[in-house]
Amino acid sequence: MIITLKDGSTKEYAESKSVIEIASDISEGLARMACAGEVNGEVVDLRTVVDQDCELNILTFQEEGGKAAFRHTTSHIMAQAIKRLYPTAKLAIGPSIADGFYYDMDMENPLTTDDLGKIEAEMKKIVKEALPIKRFTLPREEAIAFMKDRNEPYKVELIEDLPEGSEISFYEQGEFVDLCAGPHLMTTKPVKAFKLLSLAGAYWRGDEHNKMLTRIYGTSYTKKADLEAYITRMEEAKKRDHRKLGKELGLFMMREEGPGFPFFLPKGMVLKNTLLDYWREIHEKNGYVEISTPIMLSRHLWETSGHWDHYKENMYTTVIDETDFAIKPMNCPGGILVYQSEPRSYRDLPLRMGELGLVHRHEKSGQLHGLMRVRCFTQDDAHIFMMPEQIREEIKGVARLIDEVYSLFGFKYHVELSTRPEDSMGSDEDWEMATDALRGALDDLGLDYVVNEGDGAFYGPKIDFHLEDSIGRTWQCGTIQLDFQLPLRFNCEYIGADGEKHRPIMIHRVAFGSIERFIGILIEHFAGAFPTWLSPVQVRVLPISDKYQEYGQKVLDQLKAAGIRADMDTKAEKIGYKIREARLEKLPYMLIVGAKEEEEGKVSVRSRFLGDEGAKDLSEFLEDITEEIKARKIREVQTEE
Ligand SMILES: [Zn+2]
Ligand SMILES: [Zn+2]
Repeated sequence: MIITLKDGSTKEYAESKSVIEIASDISEGLARMACAGEVNGEVVDLRTVVDQDCELNILTFQEEGGKAAFRHTTSHIMAQAIKRLYPTAKLAIGPSIADGFYYDMDMENPLTTDDLGKIEAEMKKIVKEALPIKRFTLPREEAIAFMKDRNEPYKVELIEDLPEGSEISFYEQGEFVDLCAGPHLMTTKPVKAFKLLSLAGAYWRGDEHNKMLTRIYGTSYTKKADLEAYITRMEEAKKRDHRKLGKELGLFMMREEGPGFPFFLPKGMVLKNTLLDYWREIHEKNGYVEISTPIMLSRHLWETSGHWDHYKENMYTTVIDETDFAIKPMNCPGGILVYQSEPRSYRDLPLRMGELGLVHRHEKSGQLHGLMRVRCFTQDDAHIFMMPEQIREEIKGVARLIDEVYSLFGFKYHVELSTRPEDSMGSDEDWEMATDALRGALDDLGLDYVVNEGDGAFYGPKIDFHLEDSIGRTWQCGTIQLDFQLPLRFNCEYIGADGEKHRPIMIHRVAFGSIERFIGILIEHFAGAFPTWLSPVQVRVLPISDKYQEYGQKVLDQLKAAGIRADMDTKAEKIGYKIREARLEKLPYMLIVGAKEEEEGKVSVRSRFLGDEGAKDLSEFLEDITEEIKARKIREVQTEE
């Protein structure tokens, strides 16, 4: 058989070999790092035997599939440690997740966080024992008997759910055996850097009628330094939690009366409107027109768009005059009605229609999270209608615009291209043309990108933008989605240069994604200390005492007249106290006014960036700050006061 490796090189073997044997044959170093394999795109166990020609990729911790196997193995090690310490604990499920793993256990006595250290110590022993991990299978009936024998009722239930006649796989390390589909590492030895993070309650099978189990969360890395960096990042994230800062800074609130429906407070509204002003400015500059379509539209429309059949679970509906209506979960169908409001010709294309559309989507209450996961949000949407030959240029235009937006906030980002999935609509020709155009646009722009084969929507390929915040977390925000299907469903047309009717192609795109979520990201990214142009309050005037309030008022009036968002602290407090308060509110500038300032017509400038900037003429300060706001600068912080 011939094995084609990731770099295109090949290996030839006379007989079948396991993935780990092939890894060893390539290099012992690679075999040591190997966590799983990937055969023809499918993640497999290192023990999987390959017996025919295939593409093989050895996955290390650097790849997602490898990371998952590594952490899944860590979850087994944790379960083994818990069984050693608490022999009556019953195993439920223990998968790897985005940043680590968990295991759900039925514990006789609930664990406390104090117990986590003890479990970690036992895990260290298991790692040191370097137990070989073995895989074996049993026929279903024997598997049930086996787990009954081991007194694991949850595992018995899981096996009973599997179809009759199936072979059930197990993984064994020392005295510990788990029902498991894998994949797993070869031994417990490589799992050297791990930490148990928290405890939570979780219903068996996520069903509230079932018993509440103990869920133990943890994470693991191949290197101590990476684990430590992760923990530091988590601590930093906790300090920056937008729910906490949003409350402290008076930006938004959530109420029981509207779960998942955020309230914006006056300062949050200033922030939101400032973002929207910026959005309108750059879209106008980039040749977009703005529209607004209704929040509620009739069932008939959602049937045409396909949402009524495929998305109804997530939609809120109501009845008006005996007709079903739905609150829009997306803006597209409304946008199409606007496209169809007049005959279109090739001269009108590309037609870029932006919409700051308020959409509602049902999310389970357990999934809600501050502004990051809500049930109603404003998409900074746009639909672009165009001819096939315009795709490449349009994609470039959108990608440039998104780049401009992210750069403004100091975000780095990476791009992913998702191609045709197996279950898709449209001709091969269309898909090829569209995917080539997307690739071509990214290449023209010199953007590096990852390709997610088969990850596109059924109606077209897409480009996603994942931005990286100041503490290294990534967030998917922007998307550019090509669509041949909706124009077809709605029978959209334009008259071509040939005088004939043609079908336009459509782009759906967002830059911020959801304005609400983007605000959540900005709060955490800046830790609440927004650039001056975004700050709800940009300047605070601080009179040293009551005597200087009159002069302070003059200063304030001039600031306001210049369009600066300013206020004055007139409390009968010492100046030091007022400064501390303004600092807690993370205000960019304070202007301190006393006798000397009044006499000379100056202000003493204290900023979040430089600390004491000294006395300046008010006119000079106004000039500087106006320039800073106009250019939407992010001033670097050079002081830790
Ligand atoms: Zn497992
Ligand atoms: Zn759309």
